[in-house]
Amino acid sequence: MSSIARFAEVVVHSPLGRSTQTTLANPEGPASSADLHQTFHYSIPVHWQSSIVPGLLVWVPFGPRQMPGIVLATPGSAPVEVTRDILGIIDPRPVLTPYQIELAQWIGQYYHAPLHSAVWCMFPSGISWQAETMLRIGDMAAAPSEREYRILALLREKGPMPAKELERQVRMKGLGRVLGQMIHKGWVHREIRVRGPQVRPKTEATVRLAVPSAEEPLAALSKAPRQRAVLSYLLQRAQQEATPSTLEVPLSEVCEQVGVTRAIVDGLAKRGLLTTGQREVRRDPLAGRQFVTTEPPRFTTDQEAAWQPLAAVLESARSHSAAVVRSQVFLLHGVTGSGKTEIYLRALAEVLKRGGQGIVLVPEISLTPQTIRRFAARFPQRLAVLHSRLTAGERYDEWRRIREGLVDVVIGPRSAVFAPLPRLRLIVLDEEHEWTYKQQDVPPRYHARDVAVKLAELTGALVILGSATPDIGTYYRAQRGEYALLRLPQRIMGHQRSFEQQTAELGVEAHQMQVKAFGPGYEDARYMELPPVEVLDLRAELRAGNRSMFSRALQEALRAALAANQQAILFLNRRGTASFVMCRDCGHVIQCPRCDVSLTYHEDSQYLLCHHCSRRAPVPSICPQCSSKRIRFFGVGTQTVEQAVHELLPGVRVLRWDRDVTGGKDAHEEILDRFLRHEADVLVGTQMVAKSLDLPLVTLVGVVTADTALQLPDFRASERTFQLLTQVAGRAGRSILGGKVIIQTYAPQHYSIQAAGRHDYESFYRQEIEFRRQQGYPPFSRLVRLLFMHPGALKCEQESQALSITLRARIAQLGLAGTDVIGPAPCFVGRIRGLYRWQIVLRGPDPAVLLRGWPLPLGWRVDVDPGSLL
Ligand code: ADP
Ligand code: ZN
Ligand code: ZN
Repeated sequence: MSSIARFAEVVVHSPLGRSTQTTLANPEGPASSADLHQTFHYSIPVHWQSSIVPGLLVWVPFGPRQMPGIVLATPGSAPVEVTRDILGIIDPRPVLTPYQIELAQWIGQYYHAPLHSAVWCMFPSGISWQAETMLRIGDMAAAPSEREYRILALLREKGPMPAKELERQVRMKGLGRVLGQMIHKGWVHREIRVRGPQVRPKTEATVRLAVPSAEEPLAALSKAPRQRAVLSYLLQRAQQEATPSTLEVPLSEVCEQVGVTRAIVDGLAKRGLLTTGQREVRRDPLAGRQFVTTEPPRFTTDQEAAWQPLAAVLESARSHSAAVVRSQVFLLHGVTGSGKTEIYLRALAEVLKRGGQGIVLVPEISLTPQTIRRFAARFPQRLAVLHSRLTAGERYDEWRRIREGLVDVVIGPRSAVFAPLPRLRLIVLDEEHEWTYKQQDVPPRYHARDVAVKLAELTGALVILGSATPDIGTYYRAQRGEYALLRLPQRIMGHQRSFEQQTAELGVEAHQMQVKAFGPGYEDARYMELPPVEVLDLRAELRAGNRSMFSRALQEALRAALAANQQAILFLNRRGTASFVMCRDCGHVIQCPRCDVSLTYHEDSQYLLCHHCSRRAPVPSICPQCSSKRIRFFGVGTQTVEQAVHELLPGVRVLRWDRDVTGGKDAHEEILDRFLRHEADVLVGTQMVAKSLDLPLVTLVGVVTADTALQLPDFRASERTFQLLTQVAGRAGRSILGGKVIIQTYAPQHYSIQAAGRHDYESFYRQEIEFRRQQGYPPFSRLVRLLFMHPGALKCEQESQALSITLRARIAQLGLAGTDVIGPAPCFVGRIRGLYRWQIVLRGPDPAVLLRGWPLPLGWRVDVDPGSLL
């Protein structure tokens, strides 16, 4: 029959193939972009004609080896004359849904990533197929040497064994050479075996009753009291069941409850009174945690207003066919605590009511027990949490539960966007501006927001992007009507019962509370105004003779907060410290006259460098603006701040929290818990503290230096600074005791600091978008970053020069007038782990077209829509 497919187009998972192609200079795999999207054709044996479908995981021959592969399509013909047969089916159920296959193809194209990386990133990590070399005895050996004899004896005694194992057992110098000769002579055979998924379902031993009634057997056991005890325990358990005959009790439970060993249970099994077996246990990451089921609160009028357009779309999505339902993206803009999560929760509830399912993406750092608890409280049993601290086994279990359709809500970081939900209707991205949504290290370098929007297009799902400080590009799209904009007014609110609880715990009197009621009809809701922010000019402090890193105002506020037995957070932006040169008198930062970005100081060669155009300049000894001699390199760390606090306020308890905190997997949570329990007065931290949760005793937030990140040679420097400051400022406002924020800066006039001081996103946006328009940066263009890394500095430079010449020629040849090449230049971080780094940035309406269907030289790393140019 012609309708039956005879071929399968397969993406091969080739760790081996990759490792042979991967060299130091080419960590990215395939040598040219022509190989990027390579698939292979296999023939489908007759008996599998109906079982091999797209999305299936199969074994295929690949060179001399066997490899796992995923079937993308089952065409009626193959582009090559000779095809080999598919060898086997690894998993009888498809591992990719049809929409995921399409999504993977899009990711590969859009992000210029190897198709196989795009396909395999849809799996939970930890499921891997590894190849190993197996050795077994071959032809009869004639007159082996002593060493050869040892190897042969071992193989004869132990049977076939992995080469690694043999190596361990014989411990012989030059083993590889000896073995090579033996293989050549045919005395030893070598073959490659692929080991299956390392993670297997976890099982436990169980016990079932094998007899319908008990009296007789119990009587027969009068001489075996312990066996008798086991039997009566099981009978008693069965009576509590609705269907006693299907009762299956874990063996461990029986042994523990009755106080017997496994041998006793086995004895009963031998008598035929019960049977033992195995059943799969699901590794439950939420096990052991308590949840309070909470009722959804009544929406405030603002929430109601934001909800209406969403409700209308959810309502109209009557038909679930993706072809009929148009995808729609909403941007929900509201400060932290303005009630966004309640809107996500209601949208999810609506989707579930209609038989749909949803994915909630959060930055990894927000995936705390508090967040999980909140979702689990509304959707108990139906929630899967995928976070990086899960073991491989837990991740695999959750993935299979999702595939089986046993889960309705999946919550996790960026990779959760690949959860294979069969009835996906809603994708929520909380804190959509966060750059943890972009995968940076390995291909595919996707952004979960853009993948989500594409996924919505493929499935007809709805997307809600939420943020207090939306990404400039996202807000731009909302302004242009591509996304629908929903607003929650700028204030912090909370549930009245949680405020009551806090008051009681903190022993606060009612009149001290800075909390207001919403009015009649909204008994549960309370709100607070955003905290006042003071922007403090550090240049003035210096002029007044204060050389401390804390301004007088911050010192005073610290003393006051601690005297009142409250807590303070000192925030420090570590991005970009110790790298640029600034005048401490006038705040002037030495910049590149051609690129308008700060020049950075390079210790090894002691000059200033522009990371956009590679212009070099000597380090000035006086400020070119005000002639002051107090011009210096800038940078402080959390340790320095901690020290300064101790000097200022001896005896104060300080806790440090930054990315370098190590320890158990819950180290971060522990720090937060300790601070919550008031075991410290001051928390000194970096980016992490900006995202921490409600800290009711914190009434002061001090930003030690606001402008460090502002001076980074990156067009997103202002945006990131504004986002961080706004987030940090929002932290203080969560205390029922009120609070304030002090931002210390050398650049008090800068629009991102001014706007953050007023909690004014709109005004920041207006100025930032103007800057982007003038400079031709996203969202008015798109960027592709090409990165080259090599141990040789000269090689890096030559390679980069050569490629940029070629690219400029290609632009001219293709007539891409709107596209330009920025660079080449050394990266901001010029060397990582001994490898020099150079980059070329392509800018234009669609700069990736330059790379399509054209082989990029070996060793270049491609990042489409890069998060930063550092
Ligand atoms: P966001 O997601 O914007 O940070 P949340 O949805 O978490 O805001 O809301 C902040 C706090 O206010 C939460 O404790 C939440 O339970 C509470 N809250 C939100 N909406 C209401 C409401 N309509 N009535 C009472 N409490 C609410
Ligand atoms: Zn100066
Ligand atoms: Zn420059």
